[in-house]
Amino acid sequence: MTATETKTQYETIIGLEVHVQLATESKAFCADAVQFGSEPNTHTSVISLAHPGTLPRANKRQIEFATRLGLALGCKINERSFFDRKNYFYADLPKGYQITQDRTPICVGGALEINFIDPKTQKPTTKIIKIHHIHMEEDAGKSIHDQDPSVSFIDLNRAGTPLLEIVTMPDLRSGEEVDAFMTGMRHLVRWVGVSDGNMEEGSMRCDVNISIRPEGSTEFMTRCEVKNVNSMRFARQAIKYEATRQQSIVEKGGQVEQNTLNFDPTTGRTTPLRSKENAHDYRYFPDPDLPPVVITPSFLEKIKSEMPLLPKEARQILMEQYGLPEYDTNFLTEEIAVFNYAQSFLSQVAPTQYKAVSNLIINKILPAANELKIELTDFPLTISQLSDFLNLIETGKVSNSAAYQNLFPALLDTPSVSATEMAEKLNLFQNSDTDFLEKIVQEVIEKNPQKVAEYRKGKKGLLGFFMGEVMKASKGKAEPKTTNALVLKALES
Ligand code: MN
Repeated sequence: MTATETKTQYETIIGLEVHVQLATESKAFCADAVQFGSEPNTHTSVISLAHPGTLPRANKRQIEFATRLGLALGCKINERSFFDRKNYFYADLPKGYQITQDRTPICVGGALEINFIDPKTQKPTTKIIKIHHIHMEEDAGKSIHDQDPSVSFIDLNRAGTPLLEIVTMPDLRSGEEVDAFMTGMRHLVRWVGVSDGNMEEGSMRCDVNISIRPEGSTEFMTRCEVKNVNSMRFARQAIKYEATRQQSIVEKGGQVEQNTLNFDPTTGRTTPLRSKENAHDYRYFPDPDLPPVVITPSFLEKIKSEMPLLPKEARQILMEQYGLPEYDTNFLTEEIAVFNYAQSFLSQVAPTQYKAVSNLIINKILPAANELKIELTDFPLTISQLSDFLNLIETGKVSNSAAYQNLFPALLDTPSVSATEMAEKLNLFQNSDTDFLEKIVQEVIEKNPQKVAEYRKGKKGLLGFFMGEVMKASKGKAEPKTTNALVLKALES
C-alpha cells in the first residue's frame, strides 16, 4: 500500500449558533428604542443601565417574532418557556448577567432546507439542516477599543436589544453549507419580517462550532467555537483554517483542546479567546424578575393566521401555477414584497401574458422602483395600466422596442394617462398600411443599390439590414410581418 492509500480522510462537523437581531421598535425588556447607528448612549434608561431596583418587562413583539420564526422553521412552540440569567462579567453588560433562555426555550426542533453546490461533486444539492432549538435573549452593549489606544469606550445603545439565537444540530459539513444556511436563514427572517438580516450591521452573526472526525466515524470529537463571525467569507476561511489546524494536531497524535476562538480576518487565522467553557460556568438560574412566557392557543392561532406563504410555497406557485422558469422564480422570490406584487399582477392577466408580466417586473418595474426609491405597493402605474401596456405589445399594435424604450418611460412620467392614450399621443402605433410601408421600402432600396446588388448575388443575410433600415425610417412603427413580406418582394423583383 502507498502512503496516500493509508492516509485517514477527515470530515468537518459544523454546528451553528446564529444570533438574529429582531426588528422590534423597542428593546427586549424596556421601552428604549432599538436603532442602529445613533449617537452612543442615547437609547438607554435605568433598565438597560441596570440601576438597582428596576424591573424588566418582556416585549410582546419579541415573543410574537420568536413564534413566527419558529412556525416558519417547523419548530414545536413550547406552551410555557422561561427566562434565565446567564452570569458573566463584562464591561458592556451592566447587570453582570444576560437574560436568556436556558433549559426551556420558546421553540424546539424544526429544520431549514438548504441549497448549495456540493464542493465534492460540484452538483446542486439540497440538504435538511435540523434545528436544535431557538431561544430568546438580549444583546450586550458594545465596547469600543479602536478610537484611542489608551481608552476603551462603552456604548450601551445595543444593550437589551432583543435577539433570537438559533442553535442547529451538528449537521453541516463545509463552508459552502454554512454559507447556504446563513443565506437561507437571512432570506427567511426577512421574508417573515422578524429581522432585516443585515450582517454588515450585525443584525445577524454566527458562532461556528467546528470539530473533525475520521470519515465513516459516528463519534463526535472535541469541538472549538469560533465567535461572532459576521461575514460568510470569514466563516468559510475560519472553517478551512480550523479543519486544517485540528487535523494536524490529531495527525501528530495530539488532542484538540476545547477552546473559544476568535477569527482574525487580517491573518485568516483563529486564536484562542478563552479556554474550555461549559454551561455550568455561567451559573444559569431562572430569572426571578420575569414570569414564564405562556403561549396560549389563541395567541398561537393569531400568529399562524398572520403568517405569509413561505418561500417554498411561493416558488411552487410561480413555477407550477404560472409556469415561470427558475431564473424568474428566483428573482421574484428574493423579497416577499416582490412576490406579493408579482402574484397579484399575475392573477389579473391572461395565461398568455404570464411570462411577459415577469419580464416587465424584472426588467422595468423593479429597476424603476429602485431608482424612485419607492415600495412596489406605491408604484405609480396601476396593474390595469400595465396590463393595457402589455396588450398593446401582444396584439402587435406597438412594437416591443417602442413599448419598452418610449412608452414605458413616458407613462412613468405621466401616470395619469392610459397606455393606449399615451401610445396614441406619442404616435407609436405600428403601421401595417401597405401604401405607407411600400413607400419606405422603395426609398431604402433606392438608397442602397450596392447592398441590393450583393443581395441579389446571393448574400441573403442582408435581409436583416434592409429590415433594420425600414424600421429606422418608420421610426420603429413598421409592423414587422407586413414589412418583411414587402422587403422580400422588392428585393426579389
Ligand atoms: Mn447567545
